[in-house]
Amino acid sequence: KMQGMANGGEEKILVLVRLRPLSDKEILRNEVLDWECINETTILYRNSLQERSGLPSVYSFDRVFRGDCPTRKVYDDGAKEIALSVVSGINSTIFAYGQTSSGKTYTMNGITEYTVADIYDYIQKHEERAFVLKFAAMEIYNEVVRDLLSTDNTPLRLLDDPERGTVIERLTEETLRDWSHLKELLSICAAQRQIGETSLNETSSRSHQILRLTIESSAREFIGKDNSTTLAASVNFVDLAGSERASQALSVGQRLKEGCHINRSLLTLGTVIRKLSKGRNGHVNYRDSKLTRILQPSLGGNARTAIICTLSPARSHVEQSRNTLLFASCAK
Ligand code: ADP
Ligand code: MG
Repeated sequence: KMQGMANGGEEKILVLVRLRPLSDKEILRNEVLDWECINETTILYRNSLQERSGLPSVYSFDRVFRGDCPTRKVYDDGAKEIALSVVSGINSTIFAYGQTSSGKTYTMNGITEYTVADIYDYIQKHEERAFVLKFAAMEIYNEVVRDLLSTDNTPLRLLDDPERGTVIERLTEETLRDWSHLKELLSICAAQRQIGETSLNETSSRSHQILRLTIESSAREFIGKDNSTTLAASVNFVDLAGSERASQALSVGQRLKEGCHINRSLLTLGTVIRKLSKGRNGHVNYRDSKLTRILQPSLGGNARTAIICTLSPARSHVEQSRNTLLFASCAK
């Protein structure tokens, strides 16, 4: 028998904002730093010329992180508690949201590794239980789902299973042997991930990536007995496609089509997140995009969610940074 566990009360979505430092290129261009974290929860837009725009210049979130803050701290003070709820049988999702080149991949890579290290640490300290860790990785590109652990590029179908909900047909699920096995799988994923060249950033990614780690555990003394239950939960690490509007980064044809699909998943995600942030009851339209269908079990109900919004501090990115903060404000 498999079961997840309830976490009691209603949980709000944790909203974190992370500034990145100016890049060397931006420094060479004499880019101006427009954003400043004035304390642990507030970020300020300090270009006074813009203040007549009518948009707010002060934004507050659960936690904001300065450009010189290491990922370790973003993990410890922000994502850790939510990511590790998986060891107690609670599903969770950690998102990185932001424009291309704002630091989504940089942030998620670190957070994924810290989480897995902590999970292995936890397993070592809990010898009374037997644990199995499973890893799966997928990419959503143009509303098509692909397996990042398989060289077979055939789109994966989503099926509705009356008991298990949305199931991804033929998705590879590897049982992790150890830490180095995970590192090996992560490098396969990185190599498989689709990369499109855009006018904004050559290595920008136009796809959503979901890494899913599932932990099953059972008390050793009950294994093989009638009253044995397995506790199972997943933590999802979601590196979203760039949030910039289609018009800005995309040129023609194929790129435009991609933009529409990216927006569909991001828009649906936005709607779902807004509804969830206002309490977890009522109808939520998970079915409107592949991303939200796949993540449904780890978004609503007892699941715990954190969104890390990544921000470029440069003046030339101010419009996108504002859009990101508006999205983040809606999720609060
Ligand atoms: P995205 O995935 O949002 O497109 P990346 O994570 O690829 O952005 O980051 C763009 C560049 O900025 C990369 O070279 C990355 O190493 C660097 N970078 C991002 N965030 C930080 C940070 N907090 N500190 C230092 N460098 C960063
Ligand atoms: Mg990226």
